[in-house]
Amino acid sequence: MTNESAHQQHDVDKAGFLLTLRQRGIGDQAVLRAMEQVARATFVPGGASAGAHADQALPIACGQTISQPYVVAYMTERLAVKPHHRVLEIGTGSGYQAAVLAKLAREVVSIERYRTLADQARERLAAGGYGNVEVIFGDGMGGCPDRAPFDRIIVTAAAEEAPPALIEQLTDDGIMIMPRGPHNGPQHIVKLTKRQTPDGVVVDEEKLIAVRFVPLLAGQAREL
Ligand code: SAH
Repeated sequence: MTNESAHQQHDVDKAGFLLTLRQRGIGDQAVLRAMEQVARATFVPGGASAGAHADQALPIACGQTISQPYVVAYMTERLAVKPHHRVLEIGTGSGYQAAVLAKLAREVVSIERYRTLADQARERLAAGGYGNVEVIFGDGMGGCPDRAPFDRIIVTAAAEEAPPALIEQLTDDGIMIMPRGPHNGPQHIVKLTKRQTPDGVVVDEEKLIAVRFVPLLAGQAREL
């Protein structure tokens, strides 16, 4: 392919990519703009050649996956991020979801339990000019008490229950989005909203779409 036709192909792929998101029901203009601005190809091994604009999940290092763009857009839309928000992500993976959040929020803290993935994502995000993202290598189950509270928390690995530390680190009226369910069984995205009442903290739960995510695992990974 010549350089020019490669560019044209890229534009066609990208237009189709946004059209697919719209057709599947993503309507939030800020989310669509963020999805348009972040070059998914730079977060996928093999770059554009690997079908970065196709609406599918793709493998990354350490046996993990970068989510399907629709699911990234959907979770981001449900998170209802405002420009003044501080957001915590558990499961940095490639850094793609963090980059999309960085376009919408004031600050993003993202935690990854594989050192290799954390290091690569940190480098990529810095190279891409995402100055408001901090990637931390560690176990995200405990959140990030030093930097809490967070207006929004997104977990991009599946667990049966929301880790209590994460609920604790949400602001009042804070929202948390996560895939919930067993490792090899049915999982759903859930939206948890934290509320103060005269009787104490209440967490409302809304069950959303069916999904399939890699598991949320305790502890730092021993492998690199
Ligand atoms: N959001 C990522 C996709 C992540 S896949 C992206 O946009 O590419 C889920 C990631 O969660 C994996 O990289 C996995 O290693 C990580 N993970 C699983 N359990 C974790 C934990 N307890 N703390 C931090 N990261 C975790």
